[in-house]
Amino acid sequence: PRHTALLSSRAMSKIACPPITYIKGEEMTAYCMELIMKKWINPYIDTSKWEYFDLSCVSRDNTEDKCLHDAVASGAKLKAIFKEPTVTPTEKQKKLLGLKKTWGSPNGAMRKGWNGITISRDTIHIEGMELGFKRPVLFERHAVGGEYGAGWKAVGPGKLTTMFSPADGSAPLKVDERTLPDESSVAVVYHNPLDNVPDLAHIFFARCLEAKVTPYVVTKKTVFKWQEGFWAAMKKVFDEHYLEKFKKAGLLAKVGNELPHLISDAATMQIIRWTDGGFGMAAHNYDGDMLTDEVAQVHRSPGFITSNLIGKAADGSMIKEFEASHGTVADMWEAHKRGEETSLNPLGMVEALIGAMNHAAGLHGGHKELLTFTATMRQVIHKAMVSGKGTRDLCGPTGLTTEAFVDYVAMALDA
Ligand code: NAD
Repeated sequence: PRHTALLSSRAMSKIACPPITYIKGEEMTAYCMELIMKKWINPYIDTSKWEYFDLSCVSRDNTEDKCLHDAVASGAKLKAIFKEPTVTPTEKQKKLLGLKKTWGSPNGAMRKGWNGITISRDTIHIEGMELGFKRPVLFERHAVGGEYGAGWKAVGPGKLTTMFSPADGSAPLKVDERTLPDESSVAVVYHNPLDNVPDLAHIFFARCLEAKVTPYVVTKKTVFKWQEGFWAAMKKVFDEHYLEKFKKAGLLAKVGNELPHLISDAATMQIIRWTDGGFGMAAHNYDGDMLTDEVAQVHRSPGFITSNLIGKAADGSMIKEFEASHGTVADMWEAHKRGEETSLNPLGMVEALIGAMNHAAGLHGGHKELLTFTATMRQVIHKAMVSGKGTRDLCGPTGLTTEAFVDYVAMALDA
């Protein structure tokens, strides 16, 4: 018989989990998730409604990336997605795996297919264990625009003109004109779409209010004047919908009772100094990428930070993709293949799986039993980590191996 407390109300039958899109990656993290599914999830949870997609390099190569398009379509339909880390193949991996080409990062297709608004990255906290930040740090990274979508050319001396032709057919507009005197320059064009910034603002401020943290909008608008639009859209939503609520909750007392703006270079310093936590930051795409890596580092490990892409379906409902912020842990995979011991901390991935399961529960009318299960699983993992039965990144050389940690938690779940 299985864990009686977990399965009490349904005798010994499994708890039904509503459909989620499960995206499988490869290397060490895929190996570890296989163990976790087998030992922590499958004994208790009926996952027969889940849709699985293999986004390993070989699968993408064999299907000419149809698996990626199918996964994106499934995610748009089911709206709750779990993603394992995936490999974006390099030239070397292309040769090694015999791929037809170096397939691009799947993230762009996902952000586009799910109407990505923001990538939310929050610190994970374990009761009874001090990590980098004492209280939560919430981060909202604009999921679109900026340097990632830039067009560019390497050019010689000459004149560079950037023209804009309005879709309504009205007269073209000169955005910029400049002379490039150097023998060698790089010309770059990018834009920041602003239509979904109000959605990002609502997501960010609602989350900060719930977590009782002070929200900061981070830009370099003092010098990069084009960033004013992001700040203005955030401030408009804040003043109209949240200012009074935040004041009432006492979360703006130290910042002059209005929405604070923080210059991005100052933010890089404050992230190191504000180790008490209790703040949120919202930033442009690339700034968000850099700053959240810094948050992860201060908070001890990329294993202790979530990474959730939030998009919006045509009917206004939220599409949420949950993943760990780290990669496939390739170095441990090599060690594992050589027959050596490894110690992978699975908490970031499991938090993502819990996030997807809980979001699916919310979309399908509650599923209280499922929420109890995920909360218990989290508690059991935390308890193991606090009592010295964690992985080696946490507990040092006496910590457990990848397999022993999975087995230890499986035993505790079964107790
Ligand atoms: P990585 O995050 O996999 O590993 C970086 C370092 O941190 C390694 O030393 C690793 O052992 C350690 N580490 C990471 N997560 C850990 C954990 N949970 N427990 C213990 N130690 C942990 O990054 P990388 O080595 O730069 O990249 C490996 C592969 O992952 C690459 O192929 C890359 O393309 C891919 N990647 C994927 C994603 C994604 O799918 N979201 C993100 C980043 C990298």
